[in-house]
Amino acid sequence: MSSSRVLVLNSGSSSVKYQLLDMRDSSRLAMGLVERIGEESSRLKHTPLASGGASREWTGPMADHEAALKAVSAELAKDGLGLDSPELAAIGHRVVHGGRHFTEPTVIDDAVLAEIERLIPVAPLHNPANLTGIRTARSLRPDLPQVAVFDTAFHTTMPESAARYAIDVETADRHRIRRYGFHGTSHAYVSRATAKLLGRAPEDVNVIVLHLGNGASASAVRGGRCVDTSMGLTPLEGLVMGTRSGDMDPAVIFHLMRVGEMSTDEIDTLLNKKSGLIGLCGDNDMREIRRRIDEGDQRAALAFDIYIHRLKKYIGAYYAVLGKVDAIAFTAGVGENAAPVREAAVAGLEELGMVVDGELNAVRSDEPRLISPGHARVAVAVVPTDEELEIATQTYALVGRI
Ligand code: AMP
Repeated sequence: MSSSRVLVLNSGSSSVKYQLLDMRDSSRLAMGLVERIGEESSRLKHTPLASGGASREWTGPMADHEAALKAVSAELAKDGLGLDSPELAAIGHRVVHGGRHFTEPTVIDDAVLAEIERLIPVAPLHNPANLTGIRTARSLRPDLPQVAVFDTAFHTTMPESAARYAIDVETADRHRIRRYGFHGTSHAYVSRATAKLLGRAPEDVNVIVLHLGNGASASAVRGGRCVDTSMGLTPLEGLVMGTRSGDMDPAVIFHLMRVGEMSTDEIDTLLNKKSGLIGLCGDNDMREIRRRIDEGDQRAALAFDIYIHRLKKYIGAYYAVLGKVDAIAFTAGVGENAAPVREAAVAGLEELGMVVDGELNAVRSDEPRLISPGHARVAVAVVPTDEELEIATQTYALVGRI
């Protein structure tokens, strides 16, 4: 293939994040973000990494995703990298929900679009926005291969024992209710990068991946294949997150309906947007929470403790699921940057072979690194995630085979 560039698009309902990569050396040529699409004050921030220029910002009305993508292409074109460039090999799209159907990255055609559309009932917030991004990109470059990379795909290897909820089977099947898991692109990338850090093949290692960003999820990966993950039908299940509750007795919902007289939408908003760290203490940024704890703030300290308690439960659970653990990998905004979270999550787990070295844990770096002492039975690692690179890599590998 002579063309070597891949544009990665992550389309939200009113936003598009993008990166342009050169797959000859996996370098980033440009990146940016369009926000508030459809409003009077849409904003585009573009960083031309290849030319080393300063970031450019532009604010003005962008009616829809087509206007946004055209504006992105115009910015890219200033460095000879526009959407019409013959060097562009493919566009890789992040698609949140691929259901059970999509187990791998997939070249998009009309049948694939129809299937992603069919999954809207299980991903009402995300899939419509992803579809809009795909349709727009296809209309601008109909000749170019476009690939969907699914957040759920890595988790499709989960056994039925982990993927099924213990509810009536016919009801579950009729409504496609099961545990799909999310952040799969990150869990796939980080589990492989952790094996590489250990100097071993992914097939030979068992890893617990803790993706701790504003959204957060854990996964148990045996020999490169996911066997359990903490998010479920939707990203609400599992760990305490920035604004999501994570695990909870489902009867809380009936209680809020019957006693709290709240509507379905109100409860949805409460649990997805006003719970987790922000619900517990009013802040969802771990930096701010740590600052408040240092000042003696009790609410922030309790929020932190609840966050850590849940995390520890998942580490223990996935230790039991895997039987033998070679490494725990911390990743995403909190996992990569918050040393106190890593220290507290692993504290007291010496009997499981898990120890964090204080000095190594305090080092700040963008590189994958070990934070456990050399003698530890389980390697504890910090492995920066790179979902865009993973999407670009999978996209490029697939179009290379067309
Ligand atoms: P992500 O969703 O992966 O972008 O992660 C975003 C979250 O990472 C923020 O909400 C913060 O809680 C957290 N975060 C980012 N930088 C730091 C830092 N330097 N220290 C602690 N937490 C951080």
